[in-house]
Amino acid sequence: MTDRTLRRPLVPKALRADFPIFDQTIAGRPLVYLDSAATAQKPRAVLEAMTRFYERDYANVHRAVHTLAGRATEAYEAAREAVRRFLGARSAAEIVFTRSTTGSLNLVAQAYARPRLGPGDEIVLTPLEHHANLLPWQRVARETGARLVFIEPTDDLRITEAAIDQAISPRTKIVALAHVSNVTGAVAPIAHAARRAHAVGAVIVVDAAQSAPHLPLDVRALDVDFLAFSGHKMLGPTGIGVLYAKEEHLRSMEPYEVGGEMIDRVTLFDATWREPPWKFEAGTPPIAEAIGLRAAIEYLEAIGMDAIEAHVVRLTNLAAEALANEPGVTVYGPRTDRHAVVAFNVGRIHAHDVSTVLDAEGIAVRAGHHCAQPLMTRLCVPATVRASFYLYNDEDDVERLVVGVRRAKEFFG
Ligand code: PLP
Repeated sequence: MTDRTLRRPLVPKALRADFPIFDQTIAGRPLVYLDSAATAQKPRAVLEAMTRFYERDYANVHRAVHTLAGRATEAYEAAREAVRRFLGARSAAEIVFTRSTTGSLNLVAQAYARPRLGPGDEIVLTPLEHHANLLPWQRVARETGARLVFIEPTDDLRITEAAIDQAISPRTKIVALAHVSNVTGAVAPIAHAARRAHAVGAVIVVDAAQSAPHLPLDVRALDVDFLAFSGHKMLGPTGIGVLYAKEEHLRSMEPYEVGGEMIDRVTLFDATWREPPWKFEAGTPPIAEAIGLRAAIEYLEAIGMDAIEAHVVRLTNLAAEALANEPGVTVYGPRTDRHAVVAFNVGRIHAHDVSTVLDAEGIAVRAGHHCAQPLMTRLCVPATVRASFYLYNDEDDVERLVVGVRRAKEFFG
């Protein structure tokens, strides 16, 4: 962690100068990017780290003994060490590089859960999950005869400790939930869920896709068994994700994919595996992407995750409040303590139409079901608009969003 006194101040306008994407206008206006929950923009430090690697050090990892292979392997493993530090994990052996959160969650469902589940066992989820943390469990339940049990959220779509306690039973084997919802921005009480899961001998799997970008994570303090996130939502490149897993679990698991890189010895009829984490990284891994992810982590750490969290929460709540005060606007989820996302609708105007009007104002937001169709069904809407905030956004962006929403009302009024 960076010494607080050496930290870079979080001044969004100054930070925006690090992101080449902001050096343009959209529809003749400076770009307001409010879609970071889908994917975040990239600072020059990330782009340059990857370009430098491709131009000077590029080679495959773990295979050859030549100089470039040595540099590439060193840089790839240094990226793993940066992730270990970022998460507060005990050992780099607990950090598996995958292609995304989706890849990480499928790995846990198939390589950990599937061989261990049977009829009568229960997998506890929430009805708010992104499809990436729902479909792998639906599939493994179908394959094993296990049952899905859903934690009941409050009316404003929060997950409470009491509701977690109600859903977990002696039959629970897996508790899998998002740390921060990608629709409501609400934070789930993960440490509590971990304690309750462990009390009945279950493991906890955390989808940290929406928390890793803007809050300090400490896997040991949370005492989670598995935690998944994507590089591209936290200033890093696409094509790389992380699965954190306690080493004892990785040691007890069979590989999910098999092939090159992950083997110890191979004969025509059999093979043995390398130690974790490499046992779970079959084939050529996302090397440049890991290097880009490390640069992203270092960029975030130079500012400080606690400062980023405070900034993002303040802006998000400001936006939620301002939108909720606009006549005809419905904001979904809790009124306070939101992290990064605000989902809303404007009267009976379709979310896509609102988004189109905002785009004409140079404002990028998301419109759709946000890969959470069961939640849309629960809200009785086909889609919502979603504005999401990050370290390069500021109050002016909130103001422009609100003005854009008024335009949409006038236009479709
Ligand atoms: N989980 C949550 C909460 C998300 O918001 C997302 C992406 O939007 C994912 C999982 C899936 O991430 P990826 O598409 O990078 O695998």
